[in-house]
Amino acid sequence: MVSIEEFYSKLNEGELYGGKCSNCGNITLPPRQICPKCLSTQIDWYKLSMTGEVESFTLITVAPKNFENEAPYAVCIVKILEDVKFIGRIKISSQNEIKVGDKVEFVIEKSISNEWPMWPKIYLKKLN
Ligand SMILES: [Zn+2]
Repeated sequence: MVSIEEFYSKLNEGELYGGKCSNCGNITLPPRQICPKCLSTQIDWYKLSMTGEVESFTLITVAPKNFENEAPYAVCIVKILEDVKFIGRIKISSQNEIKVGDKVEFVIEKSISNEWPMWPKIYLKKLN
């Protein structure tokens, strides 16, 4: 049985896992307890690559309070597998520094809190 608590716990340890439906093979990220394609509840952990390709992004210049010190940065949708995408931030000062198709790596900055939710910060690093 997959759970969102364990998903974040694994992510906090630097590992990215989705959920894979043992009935139809569909992969969800973050993992879901019920497959959205076939409604099966037989979902297993599936380890994903920590790298992907920028599919789209937006440049944030006015950030929310928790991220004020990090602006400007881009929030990117990263394609890990076909139909498996995840979001991360990358520090840039202009939108010319990144483009759709760039290869990126997820870098996890561990949560310093041991209390739920232990959401780590998820950064992206350009690979090329
Ligand atoms: Zn399924």
